[in-house]
Amino acid sequence: MKNILFDMDWTLYSFENWQYKWSKLESEVQFNATKILKSLEWDNFLQKFEEIKSRYWEEFSLAFEELYKIKKEDYFNKVWDIYPDKFILNNKNVLEVFTYLKWLWYDIYLVSESPLIWINRVLFFLKIKSLLSWIYSWQWNERKSNWLLYEKVKSNIWSNHYMVWDQITSDIIMSKKSWFKPIYISDKQELTDEAEYNITLLTDLCDIVK
Ligand SMILES: [Mg+2]
Repeated sequence: MKNILFDMDWTLYSFENWQYKWSKLESEVQFNATKILKSLEWDNFLQKFEEIKSRYWEEFSLAFEELYKIKKEDYFNKVWDIYPDKFILNNKNVLEVFTYLKWLWYDIYLVSESPLIWINRVLFFLKIKSLLSWIYSWQWNERKSNWLLYEKVKSNIWSNHYMVWDQITSDIIMSKKSWFKPIYISDKQELTDEAEYNITLLTDLCDIVK
C-alpha cells in the first residue's frame, strides 16, 4: 500500500489575500477569543487581550490554558467553531487530485496543527473527508515545530512517504529529520533545495505520484 501525507492550511486551500495575518478568518478567531475573555475579565478584557497578543503571539490556546485553566480542546471548540465558506477558497482542485490518488491506491493522510474542529469543517467544505485514511493533529506536546508530530506519524505508518507542504522550516526541514520525502507547494513559484520536488499547483502532483 502506498501512502501520501498532506498539510492542510495553505496546502489544500488558500485565502483571498494569501495570508492568515489580517485575514477575515483571523479577525473572526480574535473576536471569538475576546468573547471568552470578556466573560472572565469584564471591563478589563481589551487591555488583557493586548497583553495576551504580545506575550503569546498567535498561541491564544496556550494563554487561556496557562492564565485561566481552560483546556485547549474547550478553547478550540468555542473559538474555532467557524464555517469556512466565508473565509477560505476551494481553488486547488483538491477533490480531483485526491480522487486520482485513491484511483492509484494511495492511502491519504493529513498532518495539521490546526484545531480538530476547524480541520473537520474544512475537510467537509473541500468535500474530501471520506477520502482520508487518518488525521494527525496537534495533541499534547506533539507539534511540527518540535518534530514530535512527525515522529508520531512515523511510528504509526512508517516513513519514506511523500509529504506535501507549504512551509519550509516547520514542515519540510522537520519532516525530513523523520525521513519523509517532502514536496514543496508554492503558488508564488518559490523553490527550495530542501524538497524532493517543487510544485506550484496541486495538480502537478499527478505526474510525480503515477
Ligand atoms: Mg500549511
